[in-house]
Amino acid sequence: MKYLLVALVVIIAIGIWRNNRRKAGAVPPPKPRLRQPEDMVTCAHCGLHLPSSDAITSPDRTYYCSTEHRHLGPR
Ligand SMILES: [Zn+2]
Repeated sequence: MKYLLVALVVIIAIGIWRNNRRKAGAVPPPKPRLRQPEDMVTCAHCGLHLPSSDAITSPDRTYYCSTEHRHLGPR
């Protein structure tokens, strides 16, 4: 009876060890893709640096941080 209990503990221990080994060998989840770098532009009115996607472009190819600064024009 004593040996049966020891054998049961060993079997459970091996089962836990194999389960942990399987988890460790699993493929790690892929890293989230980083955003592509974006060009920074300067507001022609106040000099604020902002990403080109957030900037407001005027017909003469100058950038502004807001429509208000676009109306005020370059300084
Ligand atoms: Zn501005």
